[in-house]
Amino acid sequence: MLLETLKTLLSVYGPTGNETQVAEAVKKIVAGKVDNAKVDVMGNLIIEKKGQEGGKKIMFSAHMDHIGMVVTAIEKDGFLRVTNVGGLGTKMTDTRHVVFQNGVHGVAVCQPTKDAPSMASMFVDIGAEDQEDAEKRVSVGDVCVFANDTVMLGENRVAAPAMDDRCACALLAELLIQVQNPLNTIVAVFSTQEEVGMRGAKPAAYAVNPDIGIGLDVTGWGDTPEVKYPDIKLGKGAGIKFMDRSMISTPWVRDALISVAEKNKIPYQREVLPYGGTDGAAMQQTRGGIPACTISIPCRYVHSACEVIDMRDMNSALDIMKAFVNTQL
Ligand SMILES: [Zn+2]
Repeated sequence: MLLETLKTLLSVYGPTGNETQVAEAVKKIVAGKVDNAKVDVMGNLIIEKKGQEGGKKIMFSAHMDHIGMVVTAIEKDGFLRVTNVGGLGTKMTDTRHVVFQNGVHGVAVCQPTKDAPSMASMFVDIGAEDQEDAEKRVSVGDVCVFANDTVMLGENRVAAPAMDDRCACALLAELLIQVQNPLNTIVAVFSTQEEVGMRGAKPAAYAVNPDIGIGLDVTGWGDTPEVKYPDIKLGKGAGIKFMDRSMISTPWVRDALISVAEKNKIPYQREVLPYGGTDGAAMQQTRGGIPACTISIPCRYVHSACEVIDMRDMNSALDIMKAFVNTQL
């Protein structure tokens, strides 16, 4: 079930550059339902579900990594100096509960300064007495992420720190489970290091060499009191991307997705995002160019500890994906 798969994947530790536990969780979810699975040098989990004669090879890419903070130094009094891994700012991190891979908990704090707050004024308090005590628990190079806190907001909405992009990982895992004998071959890439510039999807797309690439990621929102753009609302369907800062979708792929949605009466939104980027761009710009687009999940407060999505948009995205892999392209 989609919501159960989502909750499972949200609960796994997996910052950018250390996505192994997410890959293991996905493998467990799809076990016995796919043709083959392998992990490449970059840590991408690449899973194939073979299609029929005459079908195309479609690569979907959903990134496993989650933004975090890496320890840069441990101070005499036991506080940890950190810097961001991926797009994380001081506003989102101040006095937030964070956790390391070994289960050590901490509070990220942005100390008051005369100048504008920056990552240089951040520290993590793990409750250590002093440097020696802190070093028993954490080392320079260790990465913490926002601690998992998944909650339902009403009937349809879910808030959690790692929603970007575990919601898309859940969609891709469910696609592999739910689709039997598809027309087109599905190559599901659970990618690494998207948050630092799509570093996993690039080599994966080169190796897979698909006929079509579809990125799966969250997008912005325009339906809260002071935010009206982009023109995207939670609960109104998945976004089909026209463009963002990283890509202009290949028109025929975008239109094929739109026509699949319309033919099957699946709600969708036309997405033009004036910022951001996805693995769709990494696929589009590999080799001699791959036709590509991105299916987006509307998400409020992206890159905060409370990223909110709507399960109706998740179902819309999954329905579009299921119909698309059975469409003659
Ligand atoms: Zn993302």
